[in-house]
Amino acid sequence: MNDPVFAQSFWYASAPVAPVTQALEGEVTADVAIVGAGYTGLSCALYLAEAGARAVVLESGEIGSGASGRNNGQVIPTFSRIEPDALVASTPAEQGGRAKGEELVQLVADSATFTFDLIRKHGMDCDAVQRGWVQPAHTPGRVQLAEQRVAAWARRGAAVELLDRSGIERVTGSRFWHGGWMNRSGGCLQPLAYCRELARVAMAKGALVFTGSRATSVSRQGTRWRVSTAAGGAVLAERVVIATHAYSNGLWPGLARTVFPVNSYQMATVPLPEDVQRSLLPGAAACSDTQGDLHFFRLSPEGRLVTGGGLVFQADYARRLRRRIGERVARVFPRVGIPDFDFVWHGAVGVTLDSRPHAHELAPGVLAWVGCNGRGVALATCAGAHFARACLGTPLAQLPLPFSPLAQVVGHAIGKRIASFALALFRWRDKQEYRP
Ligand SMILES: Cc1cc2nc3c(=O)[nH]c(=O)nc-3n(C[C@H](O)[C@H](O)[C@H](O)COP(=O)(O)OP(=O)(O)OC[C@H]3O[C@@H](n4cnc5c(N)ncnc54)[C@H](O)[C@@H]3O)c2cc1C
Repeated sequence: MNDPVFAQSFWYASAPVAPVTQALEGEVTADVAIVGAGYTGLSCALYLAEAGARAVVLESGEIGSGASGRNNGQVIPTFSRIEPDALVASTPAEQGGRAKGEELVQLVADSATFTFDLIRKHGMDCDAVQRGWVQPAHTPGRVQLAEQRVAAWARRGAAVELLDRSGIERVTGSRFWHGGWMNRSGGCLQPLAYCRELARVAMAKGALVFTGSRATSVSRQGTRWRVSTAAGGAVLAERVVIATHAYSNGLWPGLARTVFPVNSYQMATVPLPEDVQRSLLPGAAACSDTQGDLHFFRLSPEGRLVTGGGLVFQADYARRLRRRIGERVARVFPRVGIPDFDFVWHGAVGVTLDSRPHAHELAPGVLAWVGCNGRGVALATCAGAHFARACLGTPLAQLPLPFSPLAQVVGHAIGKRIASFALALFRWRDKQEYRP
């Protein structure tokens, strides 16, 4: 089943072809049934297959047709809206307390290197560039935030560096910002190509991936789990990983009500003239600044600027974004001017109220996580790998993830409808100066 918005993306137009898959018919058995063929599900399948376990992935659409094939492809080893020290301090004792919070922070600190190492190990063809991720500060006060972030991540051994105004201009090619910081282990990749490559490698190692196969129920059958599909197929497995993230629906009661699927719009310009391309991001592969109304940019290998943004009101989005984001590009990169955009698409980011990732054991042997909060390329890759370890017998307490019971958000249905209005609040906050 083809989602037209997914098929409108630049990534869809430029990714190597997907491995051949088909819908599940009949019944298959597995060690682990995985629902969702994004980074989480496929990284999990790859690690399981490498360890000799039978992994079966069920995907309702195509490989990568959730967030994994639609995102900006920035490989970012940080959180978006929670500071590492705050996360450590606020990890509840029943989830492992400060020690477990620290393990999660370390996982994130190492997550970009983990992802690029995986890509290199398997020779994945996905335009991966590990040339650093930069976060410029959009007000003078946010430079202090950058200082705090550098101090916090440096304590965890991350390859971070504080940059003054001229340093930021040197790496971004823009005088728009006031300073900022950089993590040299970050970078960018072609997100759909990466997802398809995860699938290709996992399948080459023995994992089975079924597309057009929507899972409709997870139930107990004897000592195993039975994951049934809409078309009458089923996987019988010892364990289940629900890797549906912001695209969670009613498959597991309550899971979708723990996370807000917030629309993020992505756009790719026409290929820019070579001299203009060379002036953009000369010292980093990817850039997302300190604004809540996030300004983010990266180049594609053929010199398109891939950017985007959010909207409070979604109507007529493509026309409005061409103007709004076009003017933003011209403000940040005057040499580009207001560009023509060849591609506009969108996808759902999994946002949690406390800005933390939430990992769950939904029932004995059934795992899930949600809450990338816009930083999931590297984090989902790591989460999938650690879920594979759990499926292979590592006790959950030994994973670097705080596990918590499902906590459905009160008023979630209304919150989901008005989630895009949070952007108006973010824009207001962006105009206020930061007070440490
Ligand atoms: C527009 C956008 C831009 C982003 N930019 C960045 C970025 O630059 N950097 C970054 O780090 N993060 C970014 N993110 C976040 C990142 O893309 C996600 O965190 C990550 O892709 C999540 O991967 P996942 O495998 O957990 O979920 P997904 O990739 O969303 O996969 C979930 C899959 O489950 C499938 N599914 C759902 N229900 C069922 C069912 N019942 N049966 C079968 N299949 C089902 C869906 O079809 C989907 O394919 C962005 C996200 C979006 C949407």
